[in-house]
Formats: sequence, structure tokens, C-alpha cells
Amino acid sequence: MTSQEAIDIYAGLGACAALGLAAGGFAYCAMKPQSQVFGRTLIAPDAPGELALTFDDGPNPACTPRLLDLLASHQVQATFFMIGGFGEREPELVRRVASAGHLIGNHTWSHPNLALTAARQVEEELRRTSETLEQILGTAVRYFRPPFGGRRPFVLRTARNLGLTPVTWNAMTNDWEEPVANAIAGRLTRMVDRLTERGRAANIVLHDGGHRMLGTDRNPSMNAASQLLDRYSATHRFVTLDAWSSEAPSLG
Ligand SMILES: [Zn+2]
Repeated sequence: MTSQEAIDIYAGLGACAALGLAAGGFAYCAMKPQSQVFGRTLIAPDAPGELALTFDDGPNPACTPRLLDLLASHQVQATFFMIGGFGEREPELVRRVASAGHLIGNHTWSHPNLALTAARQVEEELRRTSETLEQILGTAVRYFRPPFGGRRPFVLRTARNLGLTPVTWNAMTNDWEEPVANAIAGRLTRMVDRLTERGRAANIVLHDGGHRMLGTDRNPSMNAASQLLDRYSATHRFVTLDAWSSEAPSLG
């Protein structure tokens, strides 16, 4: 770790301490999706009835094509936070996602926890992913979600310097390890309904890939997405994240 990184992390610790967050404060600031201590992230605006379906860790040839069919059957657009290394290996699938009208965001090159990643690698992870996706797509990538939500002030500054709006979320469950689609959909439904009651939009995370390898089975997540589409199509409006300006109120 360089001295600048140490200063950066200590500055974060200081900010947490100032809030009275002692034990576990750094973890809260660095990992919790709703924390804004290390810098602003886009979560969701005060727009009850709006839902953003977001899918992380693709593109995944074992899952993403089926998901595209599912979204098309509901005429819904979603946001895909892609791993750059997977995108490089699956450029046709990246283009297929974009040509169906979905929004594509940067989810780093190799999915490290950026709260604990050296500065030079943080920059490399973000820049290489944006450059690769932009070369495949021919359009700018403007949104970024840190893997595991992990971040520190330097990470968010680096993202903004690359023209990326950092995004976290307000509705996620352990879909990557839960084999029962009904359980995933049930937990997310309770979160969405609670957010709607509170007058808030929902920024929902599901996974169409697994960050360790291409080809991961994500059928439970896809079946849960199908249930959410069935449940909310009549009452809610599905949007991509660019519908929510980064200047909108973003506390989760
Ligand atoms: Zn991820």
C-alpha cells in the first residue's frame, strides 16, 4: 500500500469516526450500499412505483440470452453491470444486450473488493473495463457498480474522473447462493413493497453471472426475475438507471 492509499483509508476512518461509528465504522462506510460517507452513489430517487432491475456479473452465455428473451417478452429494459474480462470474451453478447435497449455499466475487469485494492489497480480495473466495453459498443459507458459495494473515497473519485456515476442499490438478497427462486422473489418483493410504501423507487440487484467464471448457472435468479416482472408489470414502471439523474436524492 502506498502512503497516499493509507492517507485515503485513514481519511475514510476519520469520516466514519466523526459520525460516531467506531467499531465496524470503516466496514459500514466501505461496504454498505446506503452509506454516503465515502462519496455519493446513485441508489434510487423518491419515485414510488419505479423499479430498476439491475443484473451483475455477466455477460454470461449460460444465462444472459434467456434473460434477454424474458425481458423482451415483458417489453422491459434493464441495466447490466458487466465484468470487463467477460465482456472481452463475449463481445457479441455484449452487443446483443445493448441492441435490445438495455443499459450497460462497468463492474470492473476482475471483480476485486475495491475498498482494499491498490490505487493503480483500481484505476486499471475501471479504465480497462470502460475502454473494452466502449470499443465493443461504440458508445460511452457512464455507470459503475463496485463489486460487493466495496469502495473508499479514491475509488469514487477515480470513477467520476472516468465519467462514471457510482451506483449502489436498495434491494438485494443472496440470489447467488439461494437455490429457491420463490425465496429470492419473496424477499425482494417485501423490500420493493416497503420501498414503495415509503415513497421510494427500488434499485434491485440480481445476478446473471458468477464473478469467478463464465457459464455459472443462475436459473434461480432468472426465475425470480420472471416472478418480479409478472408481479409488478401492471402496477410499477421498469426503468434503466439513466432515468434517474445522479443529481436526484440518492439516500436509500
Ligand atoms: Zn458483482
